[in-house]
Amino acid sequence: MSRLGTESAFEVLARARALEAQGREIIHLEIGEPDFETPAHIVEAGVKALQDGYTHYGPTPGLPELRQAVARNSREVRGIDTNWEQVVVTPGAKPIMFYVIMALAEAGVEVIYPNPGFPIYESMIEFCGAKAVPMRLLEDRAYHPDLTQLPGMVNERTRLLIVNSPENPCGSAFTADELETIANVVRSHPDMYVMSDEIYKDILYSGEHHSIAALPGMAERTIILDGFSKSYAMTGWRLGYGIMPEELVPHVSRLATNSVSCAASFSQIAGVAALDGPQDAVQEMAAEFGRRRRLIADGLASIPGINCPEPEGAFYAFPSIRDTGLSSADFEERAMQEAGVALLSGAAFGEFGEGYVRLSYANSQENISRALESLDAMVRG
Ligand code: PMP
Repeated sequence: MSRLGTESAFEVLARARALEAQGREIIHLEIGEPDFETPAHIVEAGVKALQDGYTHYGPTPGLPELRQAVARNSREVRGIDTNWEQVVVTPGAKPIMFYVIMALAEAGVEVIYPNPGFPIYESMIEFCGAKAVPMRLLEDRAYHPDLTQLPGMVNERTRLLIVNSPENPCGSAFTADELETIANVVRSHPDMYVMSDEIYKDILYSGEHHSIAALPGMAERTIILDGFSKSYAMTGWRLGYGIMPEELVPHVSRLATNSVSCAASFSQIAGVAALDGPQDAVQEMAAEFGRRRRLIADGLASIPGINCPEPEGAFYAFPSIRDTGLSSADFEERAMQEAGVALLSGAAFGEFGEGYVRLSYANSQENISRALESLDAMVRG
């Protein structure tokens, strides 16, 4: 258990709520959750599903109608020939991460993962006894890695490489060329899989989303992780999925049977409505995130000692705060106590996150502006 990490967003949120209970006002830029309501037609489909009796257990890998909708959607948006039996539906996409790492990682095996990156990757790799090999994202490259290093990081023990694009916490997104470079390295190691976390694929500020699974020879060794939390503002419905090579489906399903049994049936029916229905709300939310991105990037740039590469996707800014003279942990603490802003220390996203903080801009422009003013006053002292 001592090797199992955590996700600090939930802990900082709890601390912020405790201060709020004492009457303090806190602006929440810690949790990675869209502040929009789930689009009405999806809510209606969920309510109708409850009335129609979708209140029981379903098959472990998901209701066939949702697995088929996911396969259709993936063929459309990624151009990959996906069979619905490759889809495993889970309560949120997080279990897919857990199961895939559990299925592939063990002592003696190495897993490459982005750092700074989503903390659960490193936590799970180490929990399984495997060696976590960081792929460093570099501030001076707008948080892209130096891929010339990748061939030297892979060896015969490397079982899995995790890519996350658009990325949490850095907000970077791989170009098609970068994915091709990664795929070339993976192709030369036949025992290696890729887990491609595409949960932020609909929140991208320029260009199109590219999936590494769409490149020649890659679908048969890539597990795509995606879900409904971010694209459709459905975090509380707990609905996500993995699209994986068929040989992994029984293993991942068995881990699901051993843990969650299945995702909520009515959530799955709402998921069908989300994928098959109008996508205007997805685009409107992404456009609003784009306006907030501009606001937060400009605002952070005007605070002394702070540098913030422009986010390319997702809804996180990851500025360096090193030149303010504060550590990440002190910045997190003082932001909460003095500025009334809940944000996260970059150190919670891996060793290369020290010197940075993460701000989620899934909050209103008004709150973001107020948070920036308070942070500016805090740093200027
Ligand atoms: N991957 C990344 C990179 C995330 O940031 C998150 C949510 N914070 C998830 C996966 C999982 O989201 P969910 O379980 O809500 O689908």
